[in-house]
Amino acid sequence: MIIRNARVVCLDRENRVLDNADVVIGSDGAIESVGVGGRVSGVKPADPTPSHPTPSHPVLDARGRLLMPALINCHTHLYSTLARGIALPGPAPKNFPEILKKLWWRLDRALEPDDVYLSALVGLVDCAKNGVGTLVDHHSSPNACAGSLDQVERAFRDVGLRGVLCYETSDRDGPAKAQAALDENVRFIERTRRAGDGMIAASFGLHASFTLSDRTLRRAVEAEQGLEAGFHIHVAEDRSDLEHARRRFKKTVVARLRDLGVLTDRTLAAHCIHVTAGDVAALARLGSAVAHNPQSNSNNAVGVAKLLELMAAGVLVGLGSDGYSPRMWDEFKTAFHLQKVRTGDPRVGYAEAWAAALLNNRTIARKLWGMEIGRIEPGARADLVLVDYWPPTPLHAGNLFGHVLFGIANAPVDTLIVNGRVVVKDKRCVTVDEAAVAERATRKAKALWERF
Ligand SMILES: [Zn+2]
Repeated sequence: MIIRNARVVCLDRENRVLDNADVVIGSDGAIESVGVGGRVSGVKPADPTPSHPTPSHPVLDARGRLLMPALINCHTHLYSTLARGIALPGPAPKNFPEILKKLWWRLDRALEPDDVYLSALVGLVDCAKNGVGTLVDHHSSPNACAGSLDQVERAFRDVGLRGVLCYETSDRDGPAKAQAALDENVRFIERTRRAGDGMIAASFGLHASFTLSDRTLRRAVEAEQGLEAGFHIHVAEDRSDLEHARRRFKKTVVARLRDLGVLTDRTLAAHCIHVTAGDVAALARLGSAVAHNPQSNSNNAVGVAKLLELMAAGVLVGLGSDGYSPRMWDEFKTAFHLQKVRTGDPRVGYAEAWAAALLNNRTIARKLWGMEIGRIEPGARADLVLVDYWPPTPLHAGNLFGHVLFGIANAPVDTLIVNGRVVVKDKRCVTVDEAAVAERATRKAKALWERF
């Protein structure tokens, strides 16, 4: 495929912004060349022959729209999708542990295999229409655990997005469920590794320190060591997690997980809000990445992550949604705003929000997968989003942040391409029948809410 006449925000090594550019995508789903002025001049680094698109290439005329790398969501829970509009029994939960007990742990126990598939499908269609091409998901369905990651995978493949999947191991539903969760992680990691095609990857899912015993964590560490898939775990999201670790183990959450071997350079730690300066230094030293989820954190009133301090210490902090929103630009804006509110300093937040959303998320994806996404240059995967944005002021590499914040983030997504395949076209998801999916999901949600 060739995309013609686009304004291309490359996010490449030179951070180029190209006007009237063409991007050629090879049949292998990688970007073959990027060129300007109707003539394709870029070539694969390993190939000295200029690439001339033949008439057989399908052509997409961007008509001057803005083309940029598809967005990445570093932490989400697709299983939460069918909770939209659900009514909670009794008084509203007054703190984070109550939110978990009254909403999320009731919902995950009520999920059946079909709900798992449909909630992922609905969530992924939403994400695709908002320009997200890759998601790192954290799944839980304790009464439909075995094989549940296959259901999530099926949804990813049907919609055509990339995913890193894991199952949430926890002792909160008893030892048999914890064992089933460990088994599901191991099974799926091994299967994904055998069938690896670059679209689906696996990590090892753990819930959080306060619902995991030393025994289960040791068994998870033992199992992960042979697989080297990396852990995906919630860390110090709420103060109660820190208080639990201090009370039970006389140490912080980070120190406990570090001592048990959970925190390595393969680990993705979601949240990390209630961390000490020593914890931040430990995360940096161990090379564990952090997923920041500012809208969910605001909604749950659990606090604001110390983004500035984490990044200044050298921790790789990416951006996720925690299932709160399919719009990564809303997470980007909230991350940016919260640091200003937290510090009272209007100068901060720019570099951090930019790095988290656009630079660190792609680094985390590469760590989890070995996949080059998040940039438009020859050799990178063709994960691209075309938005209805014709800038009303000069746009160049030096002022991209202002255009992203006030323009691009608000612009409708016209087309999403993942691995060279068109997923969204003319603002509609073309890989699945959206209306039929919504109708089926509504029927399933009704039955799910009755069991809730
Ligand atoms: Zn989460």
